[in-house]
Amino acid sequence: MSEGTFQAPVGTHDVLGPESRQWEGVIATFAQWAYRYSFSLVISPLFEDVGVFHRGIGEASDVAKKEMYVFEDRGGRRLALRPEGTASVVRAFVQHHPTTPWRAWYVTPAFRYERPQAGRYRQHHQLGVEVLGSDDPAIDVEVIALAERFYRAIGLRRFRLHVNSMGHAECRSAYVEVLKSYLARHVDELCDEHQKVWLANPLRVLDCKKAACVTVTVAGPQLPDYLCDACRDHFIAVQRGLTAIGIDFQLAPRLVRGFDYYTRTTFEFASDALDAAQNALGGGGRYDQLAEQLGGEPASGIGFGSGIERLLLARHAEGVDEALLKRSVDVFVVDTTGDDVATPLVDELRLRGFAVSRSYDQRSMKAQMKLADRSGARLALLVGPQERDRGEVTIRDLRSADFEQTQASVARDAVIDAVTQRLLK
Ligand code: AMP
Repeated sequence: MSEGTFQAPVGTHDVLGPESRQWEGVIATFAQWAYRYSFSLVISPLFEDVGVFHRGIGEASDVAKKEMYVFEDRGGRRLALRPEGTASVVRAFVQHHPTTPWRAWYVTPAFRYERPQAGRYRQHHQLGVEVLGSDDPAIDVEVIALAERFYRAIGLRRFRLHVNSMGHAECRSAYVEVLKSYLARHVDELCDEHQKVWLANPLRVLDCKKAACVTVTVAGPQLPDYLCDACRDHFIAVQRGLTAIGIDFQLAPRLVRGFDYYTRTTFEFASDALDAAQNALGGGGRYDQLAEQLGGEPASGIGFGSGIERLLLARHAEGVDEALLKRSVDVFVVDTTGDDVATPLVDELRLRGFAVSRSYDQRSMKAQMKLADRSGARLALLVGPQERDRGEVTIRDLRSADFEQTQASVARDAVIDAVTQRLLK
């Protein structure tokens, strides 16, 4: 690339208005639902000691091995940009010992050196929550419910919830032994990649989307059949809780997810409106050993993360009315008499809580009206020489087909009340 023609790096994207209004809407809706579930916002650094992620998501995971942005800073520290939200939040929990159960939500960029394609970026953005300090299945139910309620609140309908339990360390390692001896008998039938690497991490074969691996693993031993009594009871309680609040789910015995930290409940929401390669709206699960792995006291945890780009793709694919989240301007002020009226009027309206736009640079009435139409504002407030001399403002409803009929002049002092009345109608 020649100098002076810089572009956003491959796999990243700029989000500008008006598209960014959708982002505001998604984030604001999530913040509102997180508040209802009594989560507080947590903000932690975008980079951490690389060990936080190696311990957290597992050194052998694909993300840690192939996708992490690792670098050395000027002081010789090995750091990594966060590839996901959970490990940093758990590191913060271990460092600060907040009162438990600790309920935190976040919105963050996540960095992964992936092959860029539709819906898959090198910097994507995630919304998520984590709860630390309790393994009560009621918390699993709440975390899953929050995701479900939030997806519905942003207009999504065509998605399915898959749930599984991976058991705790002991039942899982018992299962891994059984799986290993099963896979050893079927190596030749696996996909090319897993024929070579299945032994290092046999659970990854369950996650493989290639038909060859799917056929072998569907017919093989299933993880939930190997749960100990305590893990089985926990899983049953989670299912009972979801049913009690009317959340549909499907059991997905091969759902193990990509990071090593998961124990017991794992879940994923898949969109039916998107292609299989990018249909994961969000997912998460329990990680009852992660706090200890990061040097803390034992503390159970559960959380989920959801990709904002993915949610917007799914909304688009479902044809959700874009206006549902889009907050456009309430009022556009058109003043052709100079700024004498516009500047204080715009200020007053904003102080009263309205979203207000106006034109600048002394444009003509026609040019200003064009901008008003384009702004999406519901009302235009017009001030020309006549209005100014009479101490009035004309209110025009920009969404009314017959604006001549509905427009009215009101005294300058009465304009805020008149705008309030019209917008509340
Ligand atoms: P994960 O941490 O891999 O479970 O991902 C959580 C969510 O983030 C996924 O369900 C997707 O919605 C989203 N996501 C993950 N990787 C990417 C990516 N490279 N580009 C866009 N969204 C992603």
